[in-house]
Amino acid sequence: MITTKVETFNNYINGEWQESVSKKTFFSVNPANNDDLVGAFQASNEQDVQSAIEAAVSAFPSWSQTAPSKRAAILNQAASILEQNAVALAEELTREEGKHVDDAKNEVLRSAQTLRYYAVEGQSFTGETFPNDDPNMKVSTEREPLGVVSVITPWNFPLSIPARKIAPALITGNTVVFKPSSDTPLIALRLVEALAQAGIPKGVINFVTGKASEVGDLLVTHPAVRAVTFTGSTTAGEDIHSKAAFTTRTQMELGGKNPLVVMEDADLDLAATLVVNGGFSLTGQACTGTSRVIVLKEMKEPFVQKLIEKTRALKIGNGFEKGVKIGPLANEKQMKNVLKYIEYGKEDGALLVYGGKPVTAGEFQKGYFVEPAIFTNVLPHSRIAKEEIFGPVVAVIEVDTYEDAIAVANDVEYGLSASIVTNNLKIANQFTKDIQAGTVKVNRTTTGNLMNAPFGGLKKSSTSTFRESGRVGLEFFTQLKTVYMGY
Ligand code: NAD
Repeated sequence: MITTKVETFNNYINGEWQESVSKKTFFSVNPANNDDLVGAFQASNEQDVQSAIEAAVSAFPSWSQTAPSKRAAILNQAASILEQNAVALAEELTREEGKHVDDAKNEVLRSAQTLRYYAVEGQSFTGETFPNDDPNMKVSTEREPLGVVSVITPWNFPLSIPARKIAPALITGNTVVFKPSSDTPLIALRLVEALAQAGIPKGVINFVTGKASEVGDLLVTHPAVRAVTFTGSTTAGEDIHSKAAFTTRTQMELGGKNPLVVMEDADLDLAATLVVNGGFSLTGQACTGTSRVIVLKEMKEPFVQKLIEKTRALKIGNGFEKGVKIGPLANEKQMKNVLKYIEYGKEDGALLVYGGKPVTAGEFQKGYFVEPAIFTNVLPHSRIAKEEIFGPVVAVIEVDTYEDAIAVANDVEYGLSASIVTNNLKIANQFTKDIQAGTVKVNRTTTGNLMNAPFGGLKKSSTSTFRESGRVGLEFFTQLKTVYMGY
């Protein structure tokens, strides 16, 4: 055992750190070594959620009337706290989620930047004025906050996803109840702590940890909740979307099965690098990760050789070690799921040409490590070609023509991100039109998005209602009122 004394962390409700009324806790576990317990967290129940929502309801009138510059000052101060503690926070993130500590530090700094970005953008987010024929009347729209917003988030970007939801919610005058993933509650708590230290009034942000089965329903169905912003699996997103009341807005950012197309003129070295970075960084646990490579037949052999070479160079290990590129999967369920799909790939007749075995020797014994896997000869209708795996598994599918590539790329229920590798401008441009994806890239990885550009999916990757990120990321959190002012 690494940890002798495990610290217990509380919920944050109405400005107080408090235990759950259930008096029960659960552990957050280090996925690189499951003997290492990161902390004990409140196993909350509906009574805790009820209290958190009531606190958010009470805080709303005053917070929605607070000057935007004061709300912005709190976001900026919280950003400074994250920046000042970036090294320690990155270490906690790595210990809790497994990604490399350099990636974790980038995530902490990106989250701070997101708070600063919305502190500025949110202050100038406003309505429009409409010309009309009456010289004694002004017609305009006002943007108003919605009220209480539930924020429900996954473990893979456990700080930056909450930041990109909570910052636009707060700056526009909403109050928040935040439930993080039970795999990464500590780093989520640190964001709430930073906002509390920055002086956010009581009840404006509330934090409740626990199982979705215990707390999820009320966060979605409580009549005072005016909006639910969720990132996670499509299954959970569909459940939440179907349960939310008619008057509750939902924003669902869900799964992906992202393709990268390798054309006959592609720079194969670049293509292989993009697939390694997009498919295997963060151990394949990015919603925009490359999981399908659709390659023109004549390029397949040389491309796969390069892909194997580059994958072989990836060091597997603990995210605290220098040079490690493949960390553990985030939890045991994830690892079992990835190994299950590797078996499906073999059963469905694909060729496992690299990796795919669990890594259990020595220091890896207590962690959730799996070698990155490359399958070739993947049939477009097989399970590894159609279903989200959310791990380091890349399926290579051969096609004869660009038209076939598009048909295969679009023949999935997801539409989050896609890329093409080509120097042919005409094909590149055509691809941006033909592909069914919310983010389309040319000669870039399927992963990664700017904080100032819209982000979201098509088809079952999103509710396709409101985008996240950028200026449009503020729209979800406000409602329009049209004012006809005669004088
Ligand atoms: P998950 O759906 O299991 O859980 C996400 C969050 O929702 C957790 O906090 C969980 O406790 C909660 N939850 C689950 N079921 C719920 C329900 N019925 N009601 C209310 N809350 C519920 O997802 P995960 O395993 O944490 O994350 C991986 C998934 O997230 C992948 O499918 C990935 O593609 C997706 N993801 C999407 C994006 C995006 O922006 N599109 C980004 C990151 C991750």
